[in-house]
Amino acid sequence: MSMKTRVRVIIISIVTLITVSSSVLGMYFSRTSFVAATSDDMTVVSQIAVKMISASISLLKAEADMVAAALRETESPSASPGSMSDLLKEEAIRRGYLALTVMDSKGVVASYGASSPSDEFILSPYARRAAIGERVISTTEAARDGNLVIRACVPAGLSRVLVVTLPGTYFNDVVSEFRIWESGNIFIVDQDGVMISNYRPQIVMDRFNFIEEGEKPGASASDRERGKFFASLVQGVPGAGVYSFEGSDRVCAYSPVSGSDGWTLGVVAVINESPYARIRYLLLFSGAIFLGCGVIAAFFSASAIAKPFDQIREQNASLAALKEMAEEASRAKGNFLANMSHEMRTPMNAIIGMTNIAKNSGAAEKKDYCLQKIEEASTHLLGVINDILDMSKIEANKFELSPVRFNFEKMLQRVLAILNFRVEEKKLRLTVQTDRDLPPELIGDDQRIAQVLANLLSNAVKFTPPEGTIRVETQFLGEENGLCDIMVSVIDTGIGISAEQQTRLFTSFQQVDGGTSRKFGGTGLGLAISKRIVEMMGGMVWVDSEPGKGSAFSFTIKAERSQAEQPRFLNDAVSSVAECPGAQNISDIEDGQLVETDRFEGKRLLLAEDVEINQEIVIEFLEPTGIEIDCVADGAEAVRLFTESPEKYDMIFMDVQMPEMDGYEATRNIRALGG
Ligand code: ADP
Repeated sequence: MSMKTRVRVIIISIVTLITVSSSVLGMYFSRTSFVAATSDDMTVVSQIAVKMISASISLLKAEADMVAAALRETESPSASPGSMSDLLKEEAIRRGYLALTVMDSKGVVASYGASSPSDEFILSPYARRAAIGERVISTTEAARDGNLVIRACVPAGLSRVLVVTLPGTYFNDVVSEFRIWESGNIFIVDQDGVMISNYRPQIVMDRFNFIEEGEKPGASASDRERGKFFASLVQGVPGAGVYSFEGSDRVCAYSPVSGSDGWTLGVVAVINESPYARIRYLLLFSGAIFLGCGVIAAFFSASAIAKPFDQIREQNASLAALKEMAEEASRAKGNFLANMSHEMRTPMNAIIGMTNIAKNSGAAEKKDYCLQKIEEASTHLLGVINDILDMSKIEANKFELSPVRFNFEKMLQRVLAILNFRVEEKKLRLTVQTDRDLPPELIGDDQRIAQVLANLLSNAVKFTPPEGTIRVETQFLGEENGLCDIMVSVIDTGIGISAEQQTRLFTSFQQVDGGTSRKFGGTGLGLAISKRIVEMMGGMVWVDSEPGKGSAFSFTIKAERSQAEQPRFLNDAVSSVAECPGAQNISDIEDGQLVETDRFEGKRLLLAEDVEINQEIVIEFLEPTGIEIDCVADGAEAVRLFTESPEKYDMIFMDVQMPEMDGYEATRNIRALGG
């Protein structure tokens, strides 16, 4: 997972956690306090409603009392017969009662109205209590004519009872109109839980009882919970509570109705319909907005936050890679140094050893043998030192090419000639194929091209087992703007190189493995130097190899075609596929072409060299050519001699490091003098 994604996930998780927990806590606390506040409000409403109902009951009873008082008068001796019935009729109509009935212990004495009670009503607890002086109001019941009625019973003198029959929905009309929010309401139940007043009249008409409903065998959980709540509500004490019905919580405050026969008035409010619901939606809405903002912020800020981490991670990765490279380089250099000291000590030991043997030996043959070995060891040592010097020049960016006019085939033959001895020694088959289209004369650094070729060829010789084959192929790839593209391949049937090893091959100080260097010798610099050389010549070097089957090293270079073409150096036979002509041919030709001793007769050389032995060597080599040599030991002296007679010298050999004045300064001075 990227750092950016991680930051996003973290921010979104934090925002979600904060939003959800604050919303849940907010909803919980707001709900709790809201329920408490609602319950207080409903209690107040219930108290007011109870007062209204109580007043209504009192009024009813007072009216009944008035009728009862009037009744008593109809029983006075002066009253006319039938006046009781008339009074009942008149009062019932005037007051809108369903019936007015006078009862004594035997039953109905006089009555008006269809829904009047039967004789048995006198045995009901209401009538009995009224008979002994109480003013009682009954619960609802079905009258004989089927109407739902409520009866108020008051004493009417002479052990009689006046029964006022009212519609069963009488009290419904008083409070059922009230609505608490959307579906909250005020209701009245009797002491058994029968609904006396409800905003749905049918419930009253059906004498619905929530307590019984909740106790029925198949009652739903909702009905059971409501039934239990109603059972606790009819205990005759005021209170408030919460019950859940059909998925919504309801707050209910209740209070006994004074003047009734154990009735309770309740006020119900549905919590979800309250302003709390709006708070809840507000909380959810603000939570959603907060969450949305958080997600947007996470998306936009993630890159900014992750950037430094990514940078650190990238830096760490590149530091680790650099560390790995540095360690690898240091390991390689460590191996290189160990290898190098071996590579230098071995020929040095041979030189010192052979010199000692030669000194102590009287026999000329033995001395010659020693000198030959010393020469071989010195040549090898020189090669090692040259590689190291080349590499240090490359590393210091001081490696330069010295282009000259040269013959490609001649250069190739020179390299082959040098290696021919080792080819023969290992009984290798060496074939050379040159492209006829190759221009005979080119301008380029032939020494460096020869160095690359010699390196590839000597590796091929080194890593190809005896009687193996080495093939050298040259190809003229084309010419563009006077620059010739030339490809050279050295193909062997040697030990080969694995794919993994091939990737490190052209890096300095790399040998395929430490064992190789111990077995075959070598600095591990050759290919790195070759790569640099061909790259400087606008080309490249690569390898195709398979372990056990052999290797094909190829390189390309760009070289200028020389306009002043000279006759081809070698005959055409060499240009086609041919066996290597061998060292003999080449040296003969070399002798003929290069060593023109009489060219130097009478020439004068100024030699600036502080090391005596080097002076001696130069003199030893050059005197036979007829060159006259003036020898000085530092640059200042060389400048002085040249200043004295600039015309005198045909050549100056200038050493670099000398006391007093070094070779660079001396050369600058001499050039300033026109030399
Ligand atoms: P060295 O002086 O050690 O030969 P090079 O840079 O020329 O240095 O070669 C590096 C290494 O590449 C060699 O030590 C050898 O392991 C491997 N190598 C080069 N040429 C060949 C080849 N023709 N066959 C097999 N291995 C080769």
